[in-house]
Amino acid sequence: MLSLMPAQRSGWNQLADRVLDGHRLTFDEALGILRAADEELLSILAAAYQIRERRFGNRVQLYFLMNAKSGLCPEDCSYCSQSKVSEAEIPRYNLLQRDKLLEGARLAAERGSKTYCIVISARGPNEREMQAVTTIVPEIKSRYDLNICACLGLLTPEQAARLKACGVDKVNHNLNTSESHYAEICTTHTYQDRLDTLKAVRDAGMELCSGGIVGMGEADEDIVRMAFSLRELGVESIPVNFLNPIDGTPLAGKSDLNPRYCLKVLAMFRFANPTSEIRIAGGRELHLRSLQPLGLYAANSIFVGDYLTTRGQAPEQDYRMIEDLGFVVTRVNDTPWTPPTPAGQSACAPGCGSTCGN
Ligand code: SF4
Repeated sequence: MLSLMPAQRSGWNQLADRVLDGHRLTFDEALGILRAADEELLSILAAAYQIRERRFGNRVQLYFLMNAKSGLCPEDCSYCSQSKVSEAEIPRYNLLQRDKLLEGARLAAERGSKTYCIVISARGPNEREMQAVTTIVPEIKSRYDLNICACLGLLTPEQAARLKACGVDKVNHNLNTSESHYAEICTTHTYQDRLDTLKAVRDAGMELCSGGIVGMGEADEDIVRMAFSLRELGVESIPVNFLNPIDGTPLAGKSDLNPRYCLKVLAMFRFANPTSEIRIAGGRELHLRSLQPLGLYAANSIFVGDYLTTRGQAPEQDYRMIEDLGFVVTRVNDTPWTPPTPAGQSACAPGCGSTCGN
């Protein structure tokens, strides 16, 4: 563990204490984390771990991605290998058949995932895709103990309501970057379009999964703005991707991230969003490299297996990493983590609004 003795407590630990007491991270404090000297990295992670540990203990949630429809997308997101402007060599296929989607669910359950993510490349789902998803989700849930996250592009309120009705637990729709940087990465839809979809999902009664991609030429301030926008939206699950600049995409070769900076990004998201699930998403292996385990002191979730069009490391390596950290994988039916009650205090009531996670 990274925990320090009281006499060694740093300013970062004190900031973590304040966050745990309800302080909302300020813009300057967030920038300070991203721009801290590398020598402070372990102190920052130890402080982020204080916050992570209060909310999630040492648990790690695994997600499994199924690229249910690949390529052929009419949008022009510059980071995406599946866009209409991408010349990347990727598989291109229409929505997978029922047996392939069920096979993916079986694999997700076998690998210990808590959530099975059904992802299609699209501006938004057409009626045939909506019917396929709303038919397969109840079947998957009747066979496996899995939460379902749907990532189908832009949604109307009516589509969101249908996904909720069929048993989808959460919808992924990333903000991707700050509002001010959005036009730099996509011109075929707007940041407001994405906010509208998140509102439709929330209004339908589902959880929000929304995060972003770091390394697309944005400024530190853009990353902070994105983290704070997600805080304002009350997003429950935040995937933090680090750009994999795939050959054939407009952003090919343009990422200059290093592992220390990526860890500071994860820590900043934890400080800014203390009760949200933070997931180390795409680009984990590429950019964190040998420092991957340190990311789980701030984040509490990873994908196991491959990403949409790129390979992840072998699941066995992920399990070994989690075990070596002394952390444990949590499943759908595990009882929610409850933090230990400090001596002399009574446990707070569910819904009290504190950051303890009740
Ligand atoms: S809408 Fe989704 S699949 Fe289509 S180009 Fe953008 S990120 Fe890629």
